[in-house]
Amino acid sequence: MTLGIKIAIDGPAAAGKSTIAKITAEILGYTYIDTGAMYRALTHKALVRNINTNDGKELEALLEDTKIVLKPSASGQAVIVDGEDVTEDIRSQLVTANVSSVATHMGVRQLMVDKQRHLAEGAGVVMDGRDIGTAVLPDAELKIFMTASVEERAMRRHIEDEKRGFTTSLERLKTEIAERDRADSEREVSPLRQAEDAVLIDTTAMTIADVAEKISALAEKRMKL
Ligand code: C5P
Repeated sequence: MTLGIKIAIDGPAAAGKSTIAKITAEILGYTYIDTGAMYRALTHKALVRNINTNDGKELEALLEDTKIVLKPSASGQAVIVDGEDVTEDIRSQLVTANVSSVATHMGVRQLMVDKQRHLAEGAGVVMDGRDIGTAVLPDAELKIFMTASVEERAMRRHIEDEKRGFTTSLERLKTEIAERDRADSEREVSPLRQAEDAVLIDTTAMTIADVAEKISALAEKRMKL
């Protein structure tokens, strides 16, 4: 009996990675790990404690003293930090605006990568983020680089936000997303980029079901190899 393969899904902000990763994990009976939620969790804790997000050493010390648990829940994945449910809080605009800065620090990334590899041990896993195929799970059997036009990504986030009860301007979302992509792509440590052996999927004109189906089919193929 096979334990399952490792699937890495990377790509720019709001490309639909989490939605697709969640569905794919459900279809395959795998564990889903949202690594962006881990960086957001640390950012949230740093903001609450007034820690400067440019101070890598402070953030590293904070992370060493932080327990982040990702728990399957009805709505997908609950994020528990030191015993407190912060699932909603880590999606705030303030956290979104500061998370890329927290994610630039080498020491922080090393600790996160250790945690993420540990979580991926021993079972089938779908992990999404920015550096999964290139740095966290370079030996993943299936690597996907998921993208979509910035207009489409802003529109999807806009609709998602409205469902959660708040209105955000489309123009502002577009600017925020483009800025986060720039910061994530230009950082020195593990920048956002497509792994050489990743399959590129442009989801601009695809439905969620289309993308999930395509990835599940690719996964089935890899399992048979
Ligand atoms: O995926 P999400 O948009 O929630 O990620 C939030 C931020 O966390 C990203 O913009 C990026 O700065 C950081 N991140 C990262 N590496 C990952 C996942 C997320 O640097 N593997």
